[in-house]
Amino acid sequence: MTKPIALIAGGGIAGTVAALALDRAGWSPRVFEARLPGADEQGAWLTVAANGLNALRVLGLDPAFVLAAGFETPSLTMFNGGGRRLAVLPLGGTTTTIKRADLYAALRRAAVKRGIAIEYGKGLCDFTEAPGGVTVTFADGSTAAGELLVGADGLRSRTREVLDPGGPAPSYLGLLNAGGFTDGPVDAVEDRTPGMVHMAFGKRAFFGWTSAPDGSVWWFANPPSRQPVRPGDFTAASWREHLISLFEGDALPAAEIIRATGEVLGPWNTDDLPRVPVWRSRRTVLIGDAAHAVAPSSGQGASMAFEDAVTLGLCLDGADDPAQGLAAYEQRRRGRVERIVAVGRRNGSGKTAGPVGAAVRDAMFPLVMRFLYRKGDPQAWILEHRVA
Ligand SMILES: Cc1cc2nc3c(=O)[nH]c(=O)nc-3n(C[C@H](O)[C@H](O)[C@H](O)COP(=O)(O)OP(=O)(O)OC[C@H]3O[C@@H](n4cnc5c(N)ncnc54)[C@H](O)[C@@H]3O)c2cc1C
Repeated sequence: MTKPIALIAGGGIAGTVAALALDRAGWSPRVFEARLPGADEQGAWLTVAANGLNALRVLGLDPAFVLAAGFETPSLTMFNGGGRRLAVLPLGGTTTTIKRADLYAALRRAAVKRGIAIEYGKGLCDFTEAPGGVTVTFADGSTAAGELLVGADGLRSRTREVLDPGGPAPSYLGLLNAGGFTDGPVDAVEDRTPGMVHMAFGKRAFFGWTSAPDGSVWWFANPPSRQPVRPGDFTAASWREHLISLFEGDALPAAEIIRATGEVLGPWNTDDLPRVPVWRSRRTVLIGDAAHAVAPSSGQGASMAFEDAVTLGLCLDGADDPAQGLAAYEQRRRGRVERIVAVGRRNGSGKTAGPVGAAVRDAMFPLVMRFLYRKGDPQAWILEHRVA
């Protein structure tokens, strides 16, 4: 029997994992990625949490193999700008830190190994649905037809726009993003235990850093900014200088880490998506950031993409009518991801406190953490979730 074809727009995290999940569920997936091979946005690094890793296991993928280029990240220490330790928080089992480019590459290798085609330079610009199928048009004028369309095309999803032209757009959260990697250890970094994540409420901006097993320091910064950044607002040199100036005078290694970094990445805006009311039609569905971008401070965007993709495969396995499978997918995913979007927003808002807010936060933070953790890990509902 011929397998039904699933067209997947986007070959990022959600798209490649959806391809693997649908392949396992008896579909014939085809992935269409807008960018050319090797042209992925470099991004910096991200953490994949225990719940995301467990979703991969459902596909028979060994997370240790997929994330071989990363390293384990057992805990997070929070500081204030004066260098005072505010709290040490467990991150839950096997949380792994990995460069974004390495994660994309590993997932695509896994897909290609299963014989799944990934076609590059194919940006979806439109689609039409008929009772028996869906036809997609790409920016280069070519088309593809199948029985299902999966919109895994990220935060600015074109699939989402076509599905619901009146739907919401991403909203800017008042924070910019920067990141980078040093070539080796940095003298100012005292705790070089590989994988220990440190985060600090600097006086003017938020900073996070960890040492990789090779001694290099991986870091990110979140400078507050009322306005989103536009192309051309900074040069590479002025961005680096701006970041250094924000951390000068803090009792943190931030300024020295930035000085020791060859290429400072960013700036990117921090956005999330308000509730997206329409996730699906009869033959089209949104997954990953296209459906529900969570703020980076939740540390859950990639893991949500894994969970979505694997759940979609489970719901479409043996479904006679794709529409029923898509309804089951939404029913299993919507409540959970919307709770996590709310957590990400709350975490991010603490990064932009003014001087008075910062003093209150520094005084209250250890107490609040002790209160929250008094009965165990308050994030357990996120980290211990199993999709199957
Ligand atoms: C600065 C920053 C830090 C982050 N840190 C973390 C973290 O620590 N932990 C974490 O879990 N998450 C983190 N995230 C979030 C995480 O990166 C995303 O949630 C995750 O990448 C979502 O995966 P996705 O596949 O839905 O989207 P993406 O990974 O963005 O992939 C979408 C893909 O679709 C392609 N595409 C776009 N438009 C089209 C089109 N029209 N047609 C075809 N293809 C298209 C894109 O080129 C891309 O390859 C961070 C995000 C940012 C911005």
